[in-house]
Amino acid sequence: MKAAIYASDFFSLFFPAYCAGCHRSLVKGEESICLYCQSRLPRTSMHDESGNKLERLFWGRTDIEAATAFLKMPREGTVHRLIHELKYKENKNVGIRLGKLFGTELGASKRMNQYDYIIPVPLHPKKLYMRGYNQCDCIGEGMALTLGGELMTNNLRRIVFTQSQTRKSRYDRWKNVETIFGLSQPDMLEGKRILLIDDVITTGSTIEACSLVLNQIKGLKLSVASLAMPV
Ligand SMILES: [Zn+2]
Repeated sequence: MKAAIYASDFFSLFFPAYCAGCHRSLVKGEESICLYCQSRLPRTSMHDESGNKLERLFWGRTDIEAATAFLKMPREGTVHRLIHELKYKENKNVGIRLGKLFGTELGASKRMNQYDYIIPVPLHPKKLYMRGYNQCDCIGEGMALTLGGELMTNNLRRIVFTQSQTRKSRYDRWKNVETIFGLSQPDMLEGKRILLIDDVITTGSTIEACSLVLNQIKGLKLSVASLAMPV
């Protein structure tokens, strides 16, 4: 018994279980975020609102069936800290935890509750190499657990052009590197309901670029879910 206690103390010495929002110690049953922070998360509550703020961002740009965000993100505060933990502190669990909470909410919504595939926006290969993981995959993993649908991370890809592949000007190349996506198995997505996942949507240009390739698939219905949106 004593050995077991020591083992657990030893483990928590190196892997302290702290809240990613307020850095207080977590108690049993809390996952990554304490119940206090969780209860105070500024939810958008707009999943069932047709023509909501996020959907309006894409009007006239691309065809999206429904779009929503889980949390409002002011310039500083808990949501900012959570996203920072997820992106820059290798805290993948906070992404999974928030994804689970988001998925539960969508599952209870009227119009965004059923998808065949959950597809995280792919990270630029350079960033993936630097970070070692795609934070949107973590969010998608959590969402698939509570919302259902299959997490698909190997189909939608960023296509990076090298200098030898293009004769365009330097500016055009730079522009294209940031905005071109492709699918490795487009047939799999025919007639499917897709939920595209991002961590934070600001200008919407990444989602727009993804949608251009996804909307070419026959019968595909595209919705968008962002973990947070700036307010
Ligand atoms: Zn907390």
